[in-house]
Amino acid sequence: MDGLVLEYRDPLFGIIIFFTLLFVISFLTYSFGLYKEKKSRAEYRKLLKRFELGNLKEDDYVHLYTTYNLPFDSIILLASTFLHKGDYNKAIGVYLALLEHVTERVKKEELLELLGKTYFKGGFLQRSKEIFLKILKFSPRNKEALNHLLLIYEKLKDFDKAQEVLESLDELEFDVTRESVYIKTLKLLNDPVVSFDKKSTQLMHMFKTNEIIERIVVQYLLQFNKSMFWENIELFDLSKSLDLLWYLNFDDIDFDAVAKIEILQELYTAKGYINSVSNSAVFELDMIILSKNAKSNFRTDLNFQFMCTKCKSIHPIYESRCPHCHKILTFKIEPELTRRVIEKNQSLQ
Ligand SMILES: [Zn+2]
Repeated sequence: MDGLVLEYRDPLFGIIIFFTLLFVISFLTYSFGLYKEKKSRAEYRKLLKRFELGNLKEDDYVHLYTTYNLPFDSIILLASTFLHKGDYNKAIGVYLALLEHVTERVKKEELLELLGKTYFKGGFLQRSKEIFLKILKFSPRNKEALNHLLLIYEKLKDFDKAQEVLESLDELEFDVTRESVYIKTLKLLNDPVVSFDKKSTQLMHMFKTNEIIERIVVQYLLQFNKSMFWENIELFDLSKSLDLLWYLNFDDIDFDAVAKIEILQELYTAKGYINSVSNSAVFELDMIILSKNAKSNFRTDLNFQFMCTKCKSIHPIYESRCPHCHKILTFKIEPELTRRVIEKNQSLQ
């Protein structure tokens, strides 16, 4: 007993106890740290594996953001892989899940913008509209939101609302001259009360001060008021409507008007409706006219595609607003030759 008390009082003993305790505590902390790290590494690997397989769930993105502190921009980049694959629902799921955890206003606005754009791309126009209207409530100068609302209202044929958006953009000093003319034209075209005749007259009137709508006017006249088209033929730059003229029915063509216009003589000679020229300044038409005279089983035919002069994307059908870059009236006609095989029992005209 005495000895123990003595030993206890021994200062050396106290130091030994202190260091032992220190060692035990450090060891335990170290081991626990190791265990924790191993566990989180395993979890992370599991997560990574799911990511490799493209199986990350919406919650995983929230997890990556909240638990692993992956930067916000990286998460957004990861989620954009869904967009590239066209899996809009999945991307929407991620944005919605993240929205519940993001508190900063700037990030919230960015997420809402992405959500609105994805709804738009996925064709959920109403939802997209609601999101962009929500953004404008707290950020009325958000150009992305205004531009998308314009596209949405145009698609929904709500042209009055589209004009309101243009007014807002105008107040923010964006140049909306072309868009305004375009929306005004669409509004007239879609007006259910105005008669075809009145529409034609008004369209011609608008065209005389705004050449940019030429293609829309020509298309309308060729469909609903052919006589007005032929009467005014000299006002149009026909190279912008070659495809429409090429596919026109024989009976709808005013050949007296055609006789006065070189490009139309070339076009309809190539088509085989008339035989008034032997060559053309347009390469494709020239080739077709030449091939008509050659005795072969092949005929060249004409096909059209359209290139957006702004984003250079190619499209098989004409659209007044480029579906790729959303600019208006930027499509340029690109005629292309195709080879047509003539059946043996079909006569060569
Ligand atoms: Zn484009």
